[in-house]
Amino acid sequence: MKSKPDGHGRTSLDRLNEKDSVLFLNSRSSLFPFEDAFLDDSHGDQSLSSGLSSPTRCQNGERVERYSRKVFVGGLPPDIDEGYAFLLFQEESSVQALIDACLEEDGKLYLCVSSPTIKDKPVQIRPWNLSDSDFVMDGSQPLDPRKTIFVGGVPRPLRAVELAMIMDRLYGGVCYAGIDTDPELKYPKGAGRVAFSNQQSYIAAISARFVQLQHNDIDKRVEVKPYVLDDQMCDECQGTRCGGKFAPFFCANVTCLQYYCEYCWASIHSRAGREFHKPLVKEGGDRPRHVPFRWS
Ligand SMILES: [Zn+2]
Ligand SMILES: [Zn+2]
Repeated sequence: MKSKPDGHGRTSLDRLNEKDSVLFLNSRSSLFPFEDAFLDDSHGDQSLSSGLSSPTRCQNGERVERYSRKVFVGGLPPDIDEGYAFLLFQEESSVQALIDACLEEDGKLYLCVSSPTIKDKPVQIRPWNLSDSDFVMDGSQPLDPRKTIFVGGVPRPLRAVELAMIMDRLYGGVCYAGIDTDPELKYPKGAGRVAFSNQQSYIAAISARFVQLQHNDIDKRVEVKPYVLDDQMCDECQGTRCGGKFAPFFCANVTCLQYYCEYCWASIHSRAGREFHKPLVKEGGDRPRHVPFRWS
């Protein structure tokens, strides 16, 4: 399949499985990535935010990127691939041209593709809209990284607004949901974050450990954990017993819910009833940048 619409954006079929189609070498994500935008808005020109609904909105004369350059294609003729593929575009404008060339039915996009055996088979084109990566449900609440959960195994089409709605229905108090995307193509990585406004909702979510995500075609059991930060001081000694280093462990047991240095972990968990607690450490390769949490 070539990107006929504009001719200059080259495409390549990515034949890998969804879970290992990863080019993401410099994985750098932030806990609440829209924060920079908020900072800009606070002293920016209000008139810029008007006309957001315009399909080709401009900023300083340049087009604003709206889609990931990675596009899911499903329902391919069997002789082309194993039913689905990813298209990787060099230019985001090619994704918009592809979308323009599609037919829409029931909110889904289709493009007719011919293979040696099947002529004009409609295949589904599923672009990722960048604005679906974040959703602020309650902007009046401070976003507290210590009331934020990590959600693993999030199905790819699930949008941040849907993740927020599901979690809010289950536990209440959701103020923000985010879908983790890779920095290169800005495509979902299959994980998300949800920040709660209160401790009860947060504890209810992490105590459940697994959550059934149900939305339209999606029905999947996913794992929920506290979001572990790598720049926290030990809550017991504030760094005095460990030379001021960041705490390597977090205890997700509701009787603890604290960060610990190695020394304090050992001393606290030698107490009766706590010896079976297991330390949580930051997910490998997905380190949040050191965000100054200015909301309070
Ligand atoms: Zn300590
Ligand atoms: Zn503990």
